Amino acid sequence: MKQQLVNYLKKKDYLNINKIIKAFTKVDRAKFLPEKQQAESYEDKPLPIGHDQTISAPHMVAVMTELLEPKKSDKVLELGTGSGYQAAILAEIVDEVITIERVEQLYRESKKKLKNYENIEVVFEDGRQGYSERGPYDKIIITCAIKEINDSLKKQTKEGGIIVAPLDKGRVQTLYKFKREKSGFQKTSKGQVRFVPLKHGKEKES
Ligand code: SAH
Repeated sequence: MKQQLVNYLKKKDYLNINKIIKAFTKVDRAKFLPEKQQAESYEDKPLPIGHDQTISAPHMVAVMTELLEPKKSDKVLELGTGSGYQAAILAEIVDEVITIERVEQLYRESKKKLKNYENIEVVFEDGRQGYSERGPYDKIIITCAIKEINDSLKKQTKEGGIIVAPLDKGRVQTLYKFKREKSGFQKTSKGQVRFVPLKHGKEKES
């Protein structure tokens, strides 16, 4: 079944890069889903993971991962750990993944699920300003809808680096790839998407 999903993503051209196909084949999406969603693990749709949050549809994870052009030597920052699935996919490909989550319970759960990955650091923080403690990064992936790429996120991106993010423009959200060139950020639109919004502050367990 897992292979069937990978084959589907390849056929639809969502997956083209070999090392990313390998990561998708290796990482089991079911492990990142709550009990109730297990039956739908290998369907190409977003699913609830609690706290009004969702794990993205597999094709969206594929598209964003490919846009990020991940390389072995990369240090990647992810904003919005959620289930931890995207972080695990990236950690199969790159040297280091730092992933930030603002909801304490999601942070705890994903930290547990990702404990065998020595190259992932899960951080419980509001990631709006990125995470300068570990920056600058080769790549930044934002998996919640953000109003704009602020200066501190820009500063934490190395020259030649890439940011992939859904920008929230009111009624619609658009996925963008930003590449940091010497002259500034080159922005390319990758079409309309739907993500949960970025929120402010940390949400502690009660
Ligand atoms: N990448 C995730 C999908 C996450 S959904 C996956 O693979 O499952 C978006 C996540 O962003 C949610 O878990 C939400 O709590 C988190 N989030 C929203 N605003 C945030 C912020 N300011 N800082 C860190 N995480 C945030």
